Amino acid sequence: MSFQVFGLPVSRGVAIGRAVLVASSRIDVAHYFIDAGRVDAEVGRLRAARDAVAGELSLLKRDLPVEAPAELSALLDVHLMLLHDDSLTGATKQWIVDRHYNAEWALSAQLEVLARQFDEMEDDYLRERKADLEQVVERLLRALARGPEAVLVPVATAGARDFAGEDPLVLVANDIAPADMLQFKGSVFTGFVTDVGGRTSHTAIVARSMDIPAVVGAREASRIIRQDDWLIIDGDNGIVIVDPSPIVLEEYRFRQRQSGLERERLSRLRHTPAVTLDGERVELLANIELPADAKAALEAGAVGVGLFRSEFLFMNREGNLPDEEEQFEAYRAAVEAMQGLPVTIRTVDIGADKPLERMSVHELRHEHALNPALGLRAIRWSLSEPAMFRQQLRAILRASAYGKVRLLIPMIAHVSEVRLTLDALARAKQQLDEAGRPYVDVEVGAMIEVPAAALMLPVFLRYFDFVSIGTNDLIQYTLAIDRADESVAHLYDPWHPAVLSLIGGTIAQARQLGKSVSVCGEMAGDPAFTEILLGMGLRSFSMHPAQITSIKQRVLRADTRKCGQQLEAVLRPDDGFVVAPGRQMPPDSQTDLPAATSML
Ligand code: PEP
Ligand code: MG
Repeated sequence: MSFQVFGLPVSRGVAIGRAVLVASSRIDVAHYFIDAGRVDAEVGRLRAARDAVAGELSLLKRDLPVEAPAELSALLDVHLMLLHDDSLTGATKQWIVDRHYNAEWALSAQLEVLARQFDEMEDDYLRERKADLEQVVERLLRALARGPEAVLVPVATAGARDFAGEDPLVLVANDIAPADMLQFKGSVFTGFVTDVGGRTSHTAIVARSMDIPAVVGAREASRIIRQDDWLIIDGDNGIVIVDPSPIVLEEYRFRQRQSGLERERLSRLRHTPAVTLDGERVELLANIELPADAKAALEAGAVGVGLFRSEFLFMNREGNLPDEEEQFEAYRAAVEAMQGLPVTIRTVDIGADKPLERMSVHELRHEHALNPALGLRAIRWSLSEPAMFRQQLRAILRASAYGKVRLLIPMIAHVSEVRLTLDALARAKQQLDEAGRPYVDVEVGAMIEVPAAALMLPVFLRYFDFVSIGTNDLIQYTLAIDRADESVAHLYDPWHPAVLSLIGGTIAQARQLGKSVSVCGEMAGDPAFTEILLGMGLRSFSMHPAQITSIKQRVLRADTRKCGQQLEAVLRPDDGFVVAPGRQMPPDSQTDLPAATSML
């Protein structure tokens, strides 16, 4: 039966494929693909585990004390029967053969299928046998853990070669950490669905950077979607269609083809300069997570990197952090790949939904800090680890000898933080001087992503050469909405007048004081905001490479003189709220602009 699941659209396009559930709600096991040549060996592991469990159960039965209740012996018989039933071990073997799942994943996938069948049984006695099934599977998993290890390819890095099926795959999970998401780049999956997450959560940002259709915040998706279900992911509208009818499937295949053609058409703009109809030049830069992304940035026609999120070098590591040499090599690789174009490297922004260790947002929230987004994050964390911070600064400075580097500091809110940061930079330079290492005096910029910084901009601008507005956090902190929490996602509103006022005010004041200003949050890559931002005076946008040509098309069609008028129209208030395109405004609402917009 076909049904739909609704979530938040975070990465455009349509993906059609079979569901791969990586996080079973029942039993948590590792998910890996096995190499094609190892399928027989993996089936052998399963068989050995089954025989071991059969031996265990038979022994238990044999050694039952005479006074034990008869039900116990009957129960062991049930377990033995389940163990040998083809619907358990036979079907599990099929997941290994057909899909190249590791035995543990295959077992949990089959448990999921059988558990649903048990849940639907009318007979109470039979329904309760599900618990027995789970016990048998747990025994099998334990036996597998004791036996020889498989030769595995982590699911995140698996390519088409590791997967035996013909059908494309889409990943369904309760949650995917940003660092794990990053590993899915170039993997076998053509789309993603998660139960949790907001539009600008870092998991969503990474999905967008991969240009793969994704829906997050789909609440119950991983519970109600079954392993192997056919899915359509409509990344433009935040809809997941489960088990679609042939007509719906055909309609979406048509849309898929159309959007492919549209992308191809847009890609012809790659090397066209971004100039508005009235002759204003606009700088379109790329956001990258790893040095390897620089290639996509160049291919998309970016004129530089406006944001290199260096924290992705620090995540997903087994305990150790990248040392100065490793970081230097990574920064140098990005700088050299950009062939003389500027690369803005942001110092590490660890914390909130980007934990250092492999940890879900949920774990982070519940085990470490009550409000991680308000906690030891970004520059706060760097200043609390002075040696680590200087090490990163040295590595970035050293990369400046190989191309044009700019240094960007995240989440500045206090002048004291600015002073400590500049002291650390001076010390790092002194250390490089002493060691005789070459570097260039790089420009230093601040991310404006805390309202305090936007409101005190002239003070901050005394210390910095440029600013970059991080709208993702600026919205989060202005509206007190956790950007990664789907339960308040409807209140995460980039059109809120307070938000637009802070952005407009920052752009206007930076320009007035002769400092360059850019936007590197998700708003920069959203065509709905291009004219508004141009109307505010913005001439530098930084976004995922995949979004550059769409934004360029908007720029080429824009007339900045008209954008100013458009901005005023958009800011006309309706009970104090912005009338965004698509929002209804009552005909008699002609009140003045709220005070918050006066900064514009
Ligand atoms: C932002 O906050 O807008 C930003 C670009 O930084 P990040 O998304 O990495 O927090
Ligand atoms: Mg930010």
